[in-house]
Amino acid sequence: MTTTTHSATTQSKSQADSTLPPMLSLQGVNVRYGNIHAVRDLTLTVNPGELVCLIGANGAGKSSTLGAISGLVASTGSIQYLGQNLQSLAAHDRVGQGLVLVPEGRGVFTRMTVQENLAMGGYLHPSREEEYEAVYARFPRLKERRGQLAGTLSGGEQQMLAIGRALLARPRLLLLDEPSMGLAPLMIELIFQTLAELKASGLSMLLIEQNARGALALADRGYVLEHGDMTLTGTGQALLHDPRIHAAYLGASLENDHV
Ligand code: ATP
Repeated sequence: MTTTTHSATTQSKSQADSTLPPMLSLQGVNVRYGNIHAVRDLTLTVNPGELVCLIGANGAGKSSTLGAISGLVASTGSIQYLGQNLQSLAAHDRVGQGLVLVPEGRGVFTRMTVQENLAMGGYLHPSREEEYEAVYARFPRLKERRGQLAGTLSGGEQQMLAIGRALLARPRLLLLDEPSMGLAPLMIELIFQTLAELKASGLSMLLIEQNARGALALADRGYVLEHGDMTLTGTGQALLHDPRIHAAYLGASLENDHV
């Protein structure tokens, strides 16, 4: 068993270059909403080039963790990104540093066209034509619909737009909150294919997914959150084959399932 509990001090080695300092490092991070302690003393790292996933049941604290990292939710504890402490940096300045969130529910501007939504992604540094073309090459459906209002796109197309908009913000670390949520199977496949391509291009990512199987299969490493506590961590493959993960998140026993 290569998974470790929260108390273990060793980090699993990933395919990414662990000789470099971590891109993102959380130490003792807490998120509270009044009496609700949504994230408790979370320690988490993302190394350069890694895809790290966060899995957990509804209400486990996953979105709150991304909110703390992106600066949209108040938190305590240390959040270091590219060697600087983020706690004093406003959310928009974090985007300017390449820390870019693809939010839960996509957050597209429904009354703006596809092209205008993409332009919003590049508002901090107006994008060159080739950057739009790279997004359109990745998602030809968006190119066909560049003049269409985003609110009239299908859910899958809106997700492509949300990812495309984030890419125009020139991310160094992409935070993704449930990108496959509510999508049809073919669209889920396309979104996971996109994540695989982005990973192959060297982009660092922190991914929240309810589709734990798909996320762990792709991830270098994963963390499991339960009621605000991080209870397990390990490589994606180790977690994928961990009977505790199967019982709780993959909906099948190891004996009956081949992953
Ligand atoms: P889901 O998968 O359902 O999105 P999650 O793991 O992302 O869940 P969070 O959204 O981070 O979980 O929520 C963690 C806890 O914090 C939950 O109990 C939730 O009700 C609570 N919570 C989240 N946002 C707020 C808020 N703005 N005000 C009060 N409580 C909140």
